[in-house]
Amino acid sequence: MMENTIVNIQRETSEEAEQAQLAAQIFTDRAVAAIRSVLKTGPSLSHCVECGEDIPIERQRAVAGCELCIYCQSASERLRQR
Ligand SMILES: [Zn+2]
Repeated sequence: MMENTIVNIQRETSEEAEQAQLAAQIFTDRAVAAIRSVLKTGPSLSHCVECGEDIPIERQRAVAGCELCIYCQSASERLRQR
């Protein structure tokens, strides 16, 4: 009787640990993706992939691998935060 209770508690605890691990994994994946998008390297595009607007040369130099104009970048960041 007492042993069953202990087994149940252990089972629940391990399920909670699994969920916490899963949540941590999702969080890590998101963090890695966010860091990758920030650390994107390579040549910047001269035109925005979203709207085709010119990307100012200052922005091309400041943001490595820049693909979006300032407007589309801020719009996509707003979407991501939801
Ligand atoms: Zn754009």
